[in-house]
Amino acid sequence: MEGMSRALLDALPAHTAVLDHTGGVLAVNRAWVRFADEHPDDPWRPPVGADYLAACEEAARAGSVQAPLVADGVRAVLTGRTRAFHLDFAETIADDELWFSFRVSPLDTDGNGGALVSYTDITSRKRAETQLAHQALHDPLTGLPNRTLFLDRLSLSLARLDRRSTTVAVLFLDLDRFKIVNDSMGHEVGDQLITAMAGRLRGVLRPGDTAARFGGDEFTVLCEEIAEPQDAIAIADRIIAAVAKPFQMEDAEAYLSSSVGIALATSSADQPEALVRDADAAMYQAKQRGKARWVLFDDEMRAGAVARLEIENALHRALERNEFTVHYQRIVEPLSGRVVGAEALARWQNESLGSMAPDVWLPLAEEIGLIVPIGAWVLAEACRQLATWRAEGVADDSFYMAVNLSARQLAQPDLDGMVRRTLDAARLSGRDLCLEVTEGALLVDVEHAGGRLQELRDFGVRVALDDFGTGYSSLAHLRHFPIDFLKIDHTFVHDLDREGAPAAVVSAVVELAHALGLRAVAEGVETDLQRKLVEAMGCDAAQGSAYGSPTPAESFWSGNPAL
Ligand code: C2E
Ligand code: CA
Ligand code: CA
Repeated sequence: MEGMSRALLDALPAHTAVLDHTGGVLAVNRAWVRFADEHPDDPWRPPVGADYLAACEEAARAGSVQAPLVADGVRAVLTGRTRAFHLDFAETIADDELWFSFRVSPLDTDGNGGALVSYTDITSRKRAETQLAHQALHDPLTGLPNRTLFLDRLSLSLARLDRRSTTVAVLFLDLDRFKIVNDSMGHEVGDQLITAMAGRLRGVLRPGDTAARFGGDEFTVLCEEIAEPQDAIAIADRIIAAVAKPFQMEDAEAYLSSSVGIALATSSADQPEALVRDADAAMYQAKQRGKARWVLFDDEMRAGAVARLEIENALHRALERNEFTVHYQRIVEPLSGRVVGAEALARWQNESLGSMAPDVWLPLAEEIGLIVPIGAWVLAEACRQLATWRAEGVADDSFYMAVNLSARQLAQPDLDGMVRRTLDAARLSGRDLCLEVTEGALLVDVEHAGGRLQELRDFGVRVALDDFGTGYSSLAHLRHFPIDFLKIDHTFVHDLDREGAPAAVVSAVVELAHALGLRAVAEGVETDLQRKLVEAMGCDAAQGSAYGSPTPAESFWSGNPAL
């Protein structure tokens, strides 16, 4: 071979050989020789003078499924049937898997002058790709399949269900009180626990089962070939028992427990996400029933979930369909009986679901975020109503409108802007509005809640702390948050009919409010006795059926009991 061609050939990093038109090896480069020397068992790089196609046959005999393909490709190029041939394939050499990009190209254009074959080592790229694929489908901490891979395997299992009459079980487990452990022992220990947990999970499962880390301290398990629910329950029992054994950490012992929800599928019509959601709902039930136990998703829970979904769907369309109205309840000055304000209370009437108590749909609206537009609508409607009453002369200048504000609304950065624009639109001022928030809502975002309320108070809006006494009331909160009214929860007021302590509670709250410069409002005053007591205790305002139940705006001033 001529000097320059030789130099060019040797400069190529790919293992390269020149073949004559029959496939005989005419020349090979240095990379080719080096590889052949290092891997004496490799049949793919025959020496000069050998027959390359015979080498392919040898590789085929040695078990290479690619060899016939490669031989075909070489023949096709040598005979001019094709201009080029390319194949990526793996060789297993001494238990090591090496990947090569194999190429054949004709040496001259008439297709009779032999060919150039070359192998480029692409092992590191392939390994990186495999690793990336693994990472995309596995949890880095535990090495368990992640949510994506779990759902993928689940959909494969479900697809197979029709051909066999068996059941697929999904177990959803969540560590009980893991957050407390994590917060008190540190995240590093938390990670160790999660890893140990994954090990225990693997230990109690059957070979074909899939355990996955679904998120934080949530794991899912997929079991095929379940003959009866009892089989899935047995697995749940084993998991619960395995988690209950103490975890030995470096310098501490941790005790965990887990709650497990089980959902079963018998047909390929079941959707993977729905099945996991059902198992999750059952897990939630297990927590509700006292933790460290399993719950099987059943028809009753399904009915509950369906009802919930129905309400959710209907809620999404309720605003545009004008299904909301506002009822108003009198806020009264106990001694004079003067109506000093009204509390706006949302009402929802749906064509097929009927009218539902706010306690049923409000938490849902809160959860899915719809409370923000719904709450804004209630506020606008209530402001418009107050403006109308003012214009009609029934409400005087000091009469105010109280509107409930949910946690989500309180978390909106533009809350003050929204409230101000709504007041402006109704030509009202801040003084005309009182916003009621619960302690729960304040505590969702303690850092910002106070600031948001202060922004509102800066233009005259007053703030009431609603349902006082039911939450985590503490004096610190009362002082920390800028509020004007304390609404004493109706449960205390109801208890006033009973002898003894309750009365002391209410009067203590009234005194407390006054000591802090707040006004006390009693809620849920129903009986004559309650009414008299509330008046005697010095409450500044009161609400309840004794003064007037929530009513549509038309009957607010007329349809209530005489005071
Ligand atoms: P809340 O703010 O404590 O409202 C007072 C609740 O007590 C109202 O229930 C009212 O109808 C009821 N009530 C009035 N008088 C009496 C009485 O004499 N005895 C008894 N036992 N109850 C009485 P409602 O209308 O079912 O509202 C329930 C809760 O829903 C409200 O509790 C409030 O937290 C929430 N809510 C209502 N409307 C809205 C709204 O527009 N936005 C937000 N965020 N929450 C609202
Ligand atoms: Ca309220
Ligand atoms: Ca209340």
